[in-house]
Amino acid sequence: MMWKGIKLSLLGLVAFAQVHAQAPARPKLVVGVVLDQMRWDYLYRYADRYGKGGFKRLMNDGFNCENTSIVHLPSYTAPGHATIYTGSVPALHGIAANDWINRKGAMSMYCTQDDSVQSVGSSSKAGMMSPKNLLATTVTDELRLATNFRNKTIGISLKDRGAILPAGHTANGAYWFDASNGSFISSTFYSKALPSWLTEFNKRNVTDSLLNIDWNTLYPINTYTQSTADDNAYESKLKGEQTPTFPHQLKSFIAADKGVIRTTPWGNTLTRLMAEAAVQGEALGKSGQTDFLAVSFSSTDYIGHFFAPNSIEIEDCYLRMDKELELFLNFLDKQVGAGNYTLFLTADHGGAHNVSFLKDAKIPGENVSEKVVNKNLNEVLKTALGVNELVVFSNYQVYFNEDLMVQHKLDRDKAVAICKDYLVNMDGVAFVLDMKDAAKNTIPKKILEMAVNGYHPNRSGELQVILEPGYYSGYGSTGTTHGSWNPYDTRIPLLFYGWGIKKGSSFTPYHMTDIAPTIAALLHIQEPNACIGTPITEVLK
Ligand code: ZN
Ligand code: ZN
Repeated sequence: MMWKGIKLSLLGLVAFAQVHAQAPARPKLVVGVVLDQMRWDYLYRYADRYGKGGFKRLMNDGFNCENTSIVHLPSYTAPGHATIYTGSVPALHGIAANDWINRKGAMSMYCTQDDSVQSVGSSSKAGMMSPKNLLATTVTDELRLATNFRNKTIGISLKDRGAILPAGHTANGAYWFDASNGSFISSTFYSKALPSWLTEFNKRNVTDSLLNIDWNTLYPINTYTQSTADDNAYESKLKGEQTPTFPHQLKSFIAADKGVIRTTPWGNTLTRLMAEAAVQGEALGKSGQTDFLAVSFSSTDYIGHFFAPNSIEIEDCYLRMDKELELFLNFLDKQVGAGNYTLFLTADHGGAHNVSFLKDAKIPGENVSEKVVNKNLNEVLKTALGVNELVVFSNYQVYFNEDLMVQHKLDRDKAVAICKDYLVNMDGVAFVLDMKDAAKNTIPKKILEMAVNGYHPNRSGELQVILEPGYYSGYGSTGTTHGSWNPYDTRIPLLFYGWGIKKGSSFTPYHMTDIAPTIAALLHIQEPNACIGTPITEVLK
């Protein structure tokens, strides 16, 4: 009796010790995939020709959050990537746009600009970048902290901001494309030299090999029934092209401008190959801790800007992206093991239809040039107040030059009234919000909230312009852009897949800010330090 009792209690102790010695169950690798400018409807628009192993594998075997939106302005790349990974908004994480005016000192600032660091892997200035301007931690940072820096985090994208912001402050490396040499480069913020696996990868000259292949459609061109006929007035032309049509001949760009690869699907191929080289080179998923790969595919955005959503080029881009995804998932199955990794796929923003295309379809819309508005607004202010270049109109915002305001003892209310009067009378302007006193603006609550979430006092303009639907500040009459509050710019795909993720789908409204806390919940780690989102519990097993 007594012996039995001792035995039992000993067993109990052993079991107790085992339970408490166990680390929380986590996947070997988390992969964050951002498809730059992917509209939510692209999951369905081209679905009849998606294979089983790409988007459909994630949709059928993972969890599809069908109703996910951005809740900040402007809907640009840098704020989008920062928001996905911080679970926060520009008002708090500080990435208020791609480029902004620092109101203290009236300096223009690029989101990942850092003049205190040097390029690594290039003699150009493209590597003088870091996450210094990002004021919050990312979920990738929190995972580094949670593992006491024993795991690895790597960020990869053609765009510097697409690699740097997701990878956070504590990344082991972030790598982006330098058009001057066609290679992936980095900055001394991370390391003094490129890792040897990357030097080897760069030596393969993948960029040149890909540019050696002309861009033809994947299927016979007459089967692209979701798009306007190839030769139309809505699309931009690559340098040297007579018409914006297939085949896009790329060989001459090897010598002339390697950066053109970004505006072809080969840019996504290059990114996928680079991501695979990083997984192998860094042995991601094999550290015994949870590693994190943040990869952002940028060519979807470059092609979108150039050709717009109704082009055969975009249709072809997504049919090919589906194939890249399939190859990448198969690679991860082999390298890390099916079921050993968790992957999410989302977008930093969507994109509008080309305005001429809309008008031809009898839908309102117009191109409003920020440059022209900037010039006209400054002329009006000069006439009224006698001061030159008092404001900068950028990011659909009015930045006052505070130094000039003080120097000329200008009355803020008067200057604001002049700007408002000019802007609200402009064709296509729906509202002008004074962000110094945001609650006083009469505007639908949802849009006001997005403006407030996007307003960083030192990095945003004091006046926020809201255009009518279909209006945008594009680069010209062809192509398109994004940046507004409207659903075409702010409804994003969100798919979770793999370790710890349920199968299913939901139309419950979720926000871009919910992605980071969902990953934090999955991993049982602290949420990023400015997170305002909520974990999406229905995706978790
Ligand atoms: Zn983008
Ligand atoms: Zn873009």
